[in-house]
Amino acid sequence: MNVMDIFETMEYGPAPEAASTVQSWLQEHQQFRLFIGNRWVEPASGKYMESTNPATNKALVQVASANSDDVDAAVSAARKAFKTWSKTPDHVRARYLYALARTIQKHARFLSVLESLDNGKSIRETRDIDIPLVARHFYYHAGWAQLMGRELSGYEPLGVVGQIIPWNFPLLMLAWKIAPAIAMGNTVVLKPARYTPLTALKFAEIIQEAGLPAGVINIVTGEASQVGDALVKHPDVNKIAFTGSTDVGRSIRRATAGSGKKLSLELGGKSPFIVFDDADLDSVVEGVVDAIWFNQGQVCCAGSRLLVQENIAERLFSKLRARMEKLRLGDPLDKAIDIGAIVSPAQLQEITRLVAQGEAEGAEKWQPSWACPTEGSFFPPTLFTNVTPASTIAQIEIFGPVLVAMTFRTPAEAVELANNTRYGLAASIWSENINLALDIAPKVKAGSVWINCTNVFDASSGFGGYRESGFGREGGKEGLYEYIRPAWSGSKSVSKARQPQVASEEREESTLSEVNPPAIDRTPKLFIGGKQARPDSGYSLRVIGANGSLIGEVGEGNRKDIRNAVEAAHAASKWASGTTHNRAQILYYIAENMAAREDEFARRIAQQTGCGHVEAVKEVQASLSRLFSYAAWADKFEGTIHRPPMRGVVLAMHEQIGVIGMACPDEYPLLGFVSLVAPAIAMGNTVVVIPSPKAPLSATDCYQIFETSDVPAGVINIVTGERDALSKVLAEHDDVEACWYFGSEEGSRMVEHASAGNMKRTWVNYGAQRDWLSPLQGEGEEFLRASIQVKNIWVPYGE
Ligand code: NAD
Ligand code: MN
Repeated sequence: MNVMDIFETMEYGPAPEAASTVQSWLQEHQQFRLFIGNRWVEPASGKYMESTNPATNKALVQVASANSDDVDAAVSAARKAFKTWSKTPDHVRARYLYALARTIQKHARFLSVLESLDNGKSIRETRDIDIPLVARHFYYHAGWAQLMGRELSGYEPLGVVGQIIPWNFPLLMLAWKIAPAIAMGNTVVLKPARYTPLTALKFAEIIQEAGLPAGVINIVTGEASQVGDALVKHPDVNKIAFTGSTDVGRSIRRATAGSGKKLSLELGGKSPFIVFDDADLDSVVEGVVDAIWFNQGQVCCAGSRLLVQENIAERLFSKLRARMEKLRLGDPLDKAIDIGAIVSPAQLQEITRLVAQGEAEGAEKWQPSWACPTEGSFFPPTLFTNVTPASTIAQIEIFGPVLVAMTFRTPAEAVELANNTRYGLAASIWSENINLALDIAPKVKAGSVWINCTNVFDASSGFGGYRESGFGREGGKEGLYEYIRPAWSGSKSVSKARQPQVASEEREESTLSEVNPPAIDRTPKLFIGGKQARPDSGYSLRVIGANGSLIGEVGEGNRKDIRNAVEAAHAASKWASGTTHNRAQILYYIAENMAAREDEFARRIAQQTGCGHVEAVKEVQASLSRLFSYAAWADKFEGTIHRPPMRGVVLAMHEQIGVIGMACPDEYPLLGFVSLVAPAIAMGNTVVVIPSPKAPLSATDCYQIFETSDVPAGVINIVTGERDALSKVLAEHDDVEACWYFGSEEGSRMVEHASAGNMKRTWVNYGAQRDWLSPLQGEGEEFLRASIQVKNIWVPYGE
């Protein structure tokens, strides 16, 4: 080709990034050992495995294949380091994070090339997106380390954290995991993905260069069945942070159930990309390129479902096809290419299989006319039209450069289609009408919503899923809570909680004979959908007072009653769209009506627990104060506005979770109940509550209060009965979005295990008690955060 030809065709020539520095680094190493306690150690098995270059399918280098002995060594190095790292002053930790950020920037070009080689993603993306975001993450968290004492006083680090990351953004996922963990004073054992360990190993050298103390970060390469499994089950690991597929996430949820390990899961997605007919279609086309062809579509939050308003669909599809024809695919190190290689032959095969299935199911496939390189793992950008919403390719995460398109007519239909998935990671909304876009954003169930933009990330703005996309956030202040706990909960003498049975002298002071009604004149029913409902079983349970005599009966709820209650709670979901002012008013109203019956409620508490009248009154008053607290918070625990490096804002909204099932503690029959229900409804959730089976009457006494306090039907539903049996039904229920459990250790394990079905969020006490009277333990942010999930809505502006 001569200059004239090029002038005619305007063809790009190849513009490869030089890889020689990285190649010679790989050659020097040949074999990478494990990074434990800042030293390179031989794997116990003596075994190594290859990491390959997906663009050629040729081996790059060998890395150690660790087993559980190596994991033991890494965990004990991290444990040892935790003793000093957790006590290291904020400013000193901040300095280390800052040093890591600086050192990463110094090696930015090297890291970009290495990431491209090992993963197959384009150098344009590693250089302009991955690595800058990695550095930004460490800078941002250097700031949180500096501010921890002031901004998070009363919290402490968890201990040793096990972190497991996927192959699609190897170094970025490492940064998302490690930066917040060490900023908050934890120490880390990290397992990189099997296909892409190399930038993590270069990062180990950066750790040495930055002079981080030994054992704060340990990097253990190996197979999931060895390293991943050992980390998840390790008794001395305090938390698992996982990013990967939903299936593996589910198995980790089950494996850690009841262990007391804190868990955050960032899982898969099938995110909608919604285009309204007034959108700027040329911008939309570029948006689609970034949504589904970014990183070969191997992006958990890829906009893989294109939902287009019917009247513009054909116009958009033809523009898209024209653009696809011009996309450049090839050598990832070529600075002029758009699409690189698929991470592995196995992944390529899976994409190929799903695309064939899409065709077999009748969807129309379109691919550009140009051919892919035959060496290496490549797959062309692919568009499916004529897709039915229930078909495999519309439901399953393909994790490749494959876009499936569907059409809608009305905004309501768009929302319905968008939410027609078990996932909830992200969504993009395209419209020139900001009113429409901002109306749709809260209706889409997703952790990140991008308006007229897509796949934008920043350390300041949390990222994470709704529903089966997992729970927990990475980035933002909310991400820090994944790595800390209230300091009181870590101490051995956990609380001065009142025990269900109390001292006999106290019992004497109460006038039990007086308060015992002579006969049982009334059996409270269940409270479902604003009505008192007879239990399905027709049976009732006897409630025995502290002095051993029968003090009442309550309905024996069963599976069917729980299902009815969940249905009623769902039907009341309008509660969330009402004003926060209105929710506050209703909480005040409940308090007002309860205060009018203070004495009666106190007697009931004394009767059930055997505590003295004075103490019982204290519990009622604490309950009133708690209702006031959450009425106050209803319009104050609202969210934040972030200013990431772009023209625009990110609205970090606190959204309700949905239907929360909750089992109340035995100690403090009224206060325990109020402490759980009030924050949940204040934040817009609706609840199904199982009162303490030992002392259910304080909750059932509230029926009339709710009826007379304007609480809309279905917002609070109460099913009395056996705590664990009913909690199991709630934990397994697919229409319950979160489950709180305050009961036994065994029951806690059961709830965590059973919750894995729809990956609902859980909050359990592992059988430990808390002092519900103390505002530190019994109310506040911990309860509010459990009642919300953060949705980050990205709103760029400027013409
Ligand atoms: P994967 O779940 O197979 O593997 C993820 C990591 O977990 C790897 O390090 C793997 O070795 C390890 N692992 C696998 N099985 C394990 C087990 N039983 N116990 C412990 N560890 C185990 O996923 P993948 O194929 O590497 O990554 C692709 C998936 O990750 C996609 O589904 C994608 O949506 C998801 N992802 C999610 C996010 C997010 O932030 N939500 C980000 C990136 C990727
Ligand atoms: Mn590789």
